[in-house]
Amino acid sequence: MPLFTVFRSALLLIAFSLPNLVMAKEKADMIVYGDYVLSMEEGAGVLKDGAVAVRDGAIIAIGPRAEINTQYKAASRIFGKNRVLMPGLVNGHTHAAMVLFRGIADDMALIDWLQNYIFPMEGKFVDEDFIRAGAALACWEMIRGGTTTIVDMYFYPQIAAQIYQQCGIRAILGAPMIDYPSPGFSGWDDSFAAGHDFVRDFKDPTGKLVAAFAPHGAYTVSPEHLKEVLDAANDLHAPMMMHVAESPSEMEVMEERYGNSSVRHIAGLGMLDFPLIAAHMVWPDEDEMDMLAMSDVGPIHNPTSNMKTAAGFSPVAQMLSRGINVGLGTDGAASNNDLDMWEEIRLAALLHKGKSGDPTLIPASTALAMATRIGALAIGLGDVTGSLVPDKRADMIQLSLSSPHMAPLYDVESHLVYVAGSRDVVTSIVDGQVLMRDGKVRTLNAAQVTKDAQVQAGKIREALAEN
Ligand SMILES: [Zn+2]
Repeated sequence: MPLFTVFRSALLLIAFSLPNLVMAKEKADMIVYGDYVLSMEEGAGVLKDGAVAVRDGAIIAIGPRAEINTQYKAASRIFGKNRVLMPGLVNGHTHAAMVLFRGIADDMALIDWLQNYIFPMEGKFVDEDFIRAGAALACWEMIRGGTTTIVDMYFYPQIAAQIYQQCGIRAILGAPMIDYPSPGFSGWDDSFAAGHDFVRDFKDPTGKLVAAFAPHGAYTVSPEHLKEVLDAANDLHAPMMMHVAESPSEMEVMEERYGNSSVRHIAGLGMLDFPLIAAHMVWPDEDEMDMLAMSDVGPIHNPTSNMKTAAGFSPVAQMLSRGINVGLGTDGAASNNDLDMWEEIRLAALLHKGKSGDPTLIPASTALAMATRIGALAIGLGDVTGSLVPDKRADMIQLSLSSPHMAPLYDVESHLVYVAGSRDVVTSIVDGQVLMRDGKVRTLNAAQVTKDAQVQAGKIREALAEN
């Protein structure tokens, strides 16, 4: 063999084996970067110049950018220059399609608002088309603002589910049940039957949507009926959500009717032995908070809605200090009047300081955790979402730090709570699917969504003009 051929063969052998000697990179579907990465795991702090690798919709690694780049290769990358990467926000209580009623009746007591405006309006206008238009409008606003998981309690959940499948958000869909006539139902029996069938039969191949029982409240559903729901939820291993101890008027009704508070009343029915998602929880007393601390109940704090309806100030700091997982929610946009979780985060951090006179209550990092990791625990999805760790689903967002209102930057968590807003969110990812990139929602057409909402609003406006 000529010497030249031997030399060439040796060179080729070295050239082909070199990449293997360096280290084979593992395949990921996507790598997302951030100048600052917040995993929101307890005590993890802020990782500078970090990255998250994603495969099959799940997080497979989080770490410094250089390490992730050495270990993984991915066809898709979302760069993180001047961006924060963090878990998507968890809206623990909303009535998404009610967004079509935003601004229809403001500045009045909760009971007046519900009984004289919202319930009659719902009876008149809420149908399948209303839900389609309302859920899509809500979805656009939530994805735009970085919300990736919602707990939704509203009519026609099977229709809302179609919209959520299309827009890609993660949702617990509560089938509403109430003792009074409501859209599509004459009272308890048919609302319970339809809700039960929905929860029993609903299947979502992606696993992002979960069906749940949603009795409206302890003052609008009889104890016998609440027991019926509890038994069904236990039978079907399905989640349950309810408004609990929301307003002074609810507490009065409970006292008059049952001689008890809402929390004690539902405790007597065995509902604290169930991982109930308890919206509001404004009026638990000290003993009741101790009872909640022994339970799996997840209270959801809705500061905007509570202030707007003057429902009171939930003892959030006292609940958190007992180890209770308190999440955050917007409530429906009819009592908010938007679906912006950044406002709820900021209010949660501010209002309890103002009310108590103690500026150390609910620091920025806690308010952020309530909208992410703790919020996910409160709604029973603590293993699924709420923080950036391997094996959780890839639900995450990027915020831009480029706008002048973000400068100067000394503390990222402080900025996220006291400066940032939904306008700063540029990327929303759920289950590894990019729902928004560079501030543009990709799964919904903004113009179409607005147009469909206007059609529904036109009908409502016409009826209001006739009255
Ligand atoms: Zn509500």
